[in-house]
Amino acid sequence: MNCFVKDCRNDPVTARDLDPGRTGGWASLSYEVALCQPHADVIAAGADWVCRGAEDGSGKEVLIGEQLKELGQFVVQSVPGTINSGKMSWHHSGVLPAGMMIPVNVQQVGEGKPRTIHLHIDAARARELAEVLEMHADIQEDRAPRTA
Ligand SMILES: [Zn+2]
Repeated sequence: MNCFVKDCRNDPVTARDLDPGRTGGWASLSYEVALCQPHADVIAAGADWVCRGAEDGSGKEVLIGEQLKELGQFVVQSVPGTINSGKMSWHHSGVLPAGMMIPVNVQQVGEGKPRTIHLHIDAARARELAEVLEMHADIQEDRAPRTA
């Protein structure tokens, strides 16, 4: 058996419970993994990590630091104060839908600095997105969903 960190071939020297507080509650899965000393050290030093089922089904796999980029996950850092209609000076084949351009400041998980991505959305999808976001925000905040 190797260290659980992806692509690490070192022998494990320690077992660590990555989530001793069980953020998912008492019924959540154990995140005990076997780690080599260098990886145990960087995790103890506060490196970011994600533990997931290995892609080949062989059990748990830990992604650490830059490896987290391969997850393709983005965290919204701030909501734009203004939304505009996009680059009016651009001409294109229709690849950018007429509607709104939403600049969203995001941080890719595993990457150091945030950046701005530009979401293009038409009015119909904007309304659908707003409804879905409202509903999920209500659920997250444990409020009764609004009815239209
Ligand atoms: Zn390792």
